Amino acid sequence: MNYRKLKGTVDILPEESAKWQAIENQARNILHNYQFKEIRSPLFEQFELFARGVGETSDIVSKEMYDFKDKGDRHLALRPEGTAGIVRAYVENKLYAPEYHKPMKLYYIGSMFRYERPQSGRQRQFNQLGVEVFGSKNPAVDVETMALAMDIFKSFNIKDLKLVINSLGDADSRLKYREALINYLEPHFENLSKDSKERLYKNPLRVLDSKNEKDKAIVADAPSILDFLNQESKEHFEAVKTMLEELSIPYEIDKNMVRGLDYYNDTIFEVMTTHKKFGSNATICAGGRYDGLVEEVGGPSTKAFGFGFGLERLILLLDLMDYTYPSGPTLDAYVVTIGEKVNVAATRLTQYLRQNNMSVEREFLDRKPGKQFKTADKWHANYVFTMGEEELAKNKVTIKNLKNGRQENIDLTDFYADFERTFSEVKNKLKNKDE
Ligand code: ATP
Ligand code: MG
Repeated sequence: MNYRKLKGTVDILPEESAKWQAIENQARNILHNYQFKEIRSPLFEQFELFARGVGETSDIVSKEMYDFKDKGDRHLALRPEGTAGIVRAYVENKLYAPEYHKPMKLYYIGSMFRYERPQSGRQRQFNQLGVEVFGSKNPAVDVETMALAMDIFKSFNIKDLKLVINSLGDADSRLKYREALINYLEPHFENLSKDSKERLYKNPLRVLDSKNEKDKAIVADAPSILDFLNQESKEHFEAVKTMLEELSIPYEIDKNMVRGLDYYNDTIFEVMTTHKKFGSNATICAGGRYDGLVEEVGGPSTKAFGFGFGLERLILLLDLMDYTYPSGPTLDAYVVTIGEKVNVAATRLTQYLRQNNMSVEREFLDRKPGKQFKTADKWHANYVFTMGEEELAKNKVTIKNLKNGRQENIDLTDFYADFERTFSEVKNKLKNKDE
């Protein structure tokens, strides 16, 4: 039997996983500066949660869900996105209770699953980093959360960035707009794609989001939601724009932009890259306000704002930019063994160094010393500890500073009696003369 990974999945091998760690660490630092706390929710949930939370007419729910019946005949789904599960957790754990500080600022990093046609930047299991802010309608929440997204991308020196915003207004404004949109689209009905025909009466705003070229041409002249905002939504959008300007964050308004989820209202945004080589998947981050979702999932009315972005697409972009990742942690020491008889002593030495908080690898294959030193060089070890049979008989070990080649023969009894003193003495002796 020849096993292969499933279509749309990837193995992240050690060289690649170092990139992931670097990105995640950097993002976590920025999230900490903004005082977001991590939440980890299950990878699968009731199918219904996503159907209602994400919206029945969305591509995610209607075409892309990995749903299945478990052995107890429950209808479940692997999470296709992060928000629904976090909102469920927020409601179920009563995080809305007054003892919790508001707004509650949460983030997650993890795998999402969508049944899609795999291609570059599009997988069936992929990873998202997302944030959710619960419990404030202050437009400053919208702005700081968008600023956070921009800060994360800027921290990787991504220069070709564009923040695009729009407002979907409140439910009332959207109802009026819906009518106007249907009136505009009806005369074009025959020319709309099959999906858009189906959505025209169910959820006409989604027609604006269509990727079909004919649909795109038709909606180019559609009325804009911005002309249907009520006073409150207008003021909210104005406040958001003012604060973005205050922070000197450039933005564009796309009056036809909508989001894939049903429960968005007021501010929505995308971060796009204008990098030449990035092609059509130019959106690297998307989010907005969703004041209706917590209630929809069974909680009290709670204002909310969030975003999500795909880590694979970020890595793709960084690779295109030839981004240099910060170098990972170094190897403190490599233990070279000469002869099988030193195996036990090398085991003791290696563990002793690790217990003293050093990062250490040793030789297991008893190769020629030259090969072992090559490995130590390749891994940029700071020191090599060489154990040979003759030396061991005298209870000695040789420590070499790989940076300058200087070495010192030391007594193991001393070394095991007092690591701090003996090792710092050796390190001093092995320093460059001018250091
Ligand atoms: P697209 O239009 O590319 O299908 P989307 O609107 O479905 O994107 P969202 O649901 O808003 O995307 O998800 C947010 C982000 O997650 C996207 O901007 C992208 O970076 C990433 N993403 C979405 N689907 C995939 C996928 N199948 N593989 C890899 N990343 C993805
Ligand atoms: Mg999609």
